[in-house]
Amino acid sequence: MSALIEVKHLKKYFKTATGMLHAVDDVTFSIPKGQTLGVVGESGCGKSTLGRTVLGLLDSTDGEIYFEGENITNVSHEKFHDLRRKMQIIFQDPYSSLNPRMSVGDIIAEPLQIFNLCPDKAEREQKVKELMDVVGLDQRFINSYPHELDGGRRQRIGIARALSLDPKFIVCDEPVSALDVSIQAQILNLMQDLQEQKGLTYMFITHNLSVVKHISDNIMVMYLGQMVELCGAKELFANNLHPYTKALLSAIPHPSIREKHERIILKGEISSPINPKPGCRFAARCNYATEECFKRDPELRECTPGHFVACHNVEAING
Ligand code: SF4
Repeated sequence: MSALIEVKHLKKYFKTATGMLHAVDDVTFSIPKGQTLGVVGESGCGKSTLGRTVLGLLDSTDGEIYFEGENITNVSHEKFHDLRRKMQIIFQDPYSSLNPRMSVGDIIAEPLQIFNLCPDKAEREQKVKELMDVVGLDQRFINSYPHELDGGRRQRIGIARALSLDPKFIVCDEPVSALDVSIQAQILNLMQDLQEQKGLTYMFITHNLSVVKHISDNIMVMYLGQMVELCGAKELFANNLHPYTKALLSAIPHPSIREKHERIILKGEISSPINPKPGCRFAARCNYATEECFKRDPELRECTPGHFVACHNVEAING
């Protein structure tokens, strides 16, 4: 299957008062058309910065980004404007990402106006109503304001707005994290249905592994700006190989009280992403760290077909 998105050795650094913050550091992956890449990791691991850099909302420091085979790294303002139609984002907090002074209808119609896609007002209103139907938002809310609706309905507005330009690729940045669990399931089902109907490609960013399990084809685990493990979603849950992934997965609440479930508690300080020292960034918290881990960066290696891990001791750890 051909890749819609290809990212090669992408870096995004920020200058700070104390040095260079390596928010995204040498990340490489691709997403085939119509598939979902889940991106997981703790807060501050660089996953949201990665999504925004791929979308061109942040300029990259180094590396390349391809969309449908074309290099779109740091493109011109005009080109970026065209790309914006094809590449959209859904934000975490549907309340703060929506303009409180605009009605639901105006919020959904705004991208159509910016791109001059439906200049006729009646036609535009019809398109907005169609989009509300697509995302399961009752048309009676067209003149309501975001604060009058619950979190699930507000996120449906965000999704309708993202869909209004008929995109091919959507970065979903923690799209259900601010919602109640029952509403989360509804929004996830909606996103999966839309993906099937419209052939959408998603990059689904979350800190919640149980959410990403059901929606992803592949999952990338990030730690302090770097990719530490990448493989199929089922493979990650059945046969995770990196010590950090094991700790993350062990933190998922287990439904069965009969099954023994040992949580791995990470100890030690999180290393600083500012001017990071050579060596594995997880070393200070890793139970398996050896001398080499503090001296040399682990390379990302394909341990089994399609399963990539960055760890010096992966074989020894996994027998
Ligand atoms: Fe742990 Fe070393 Fe592997 Fe890093 S490279 S995860 S410190 S064993």
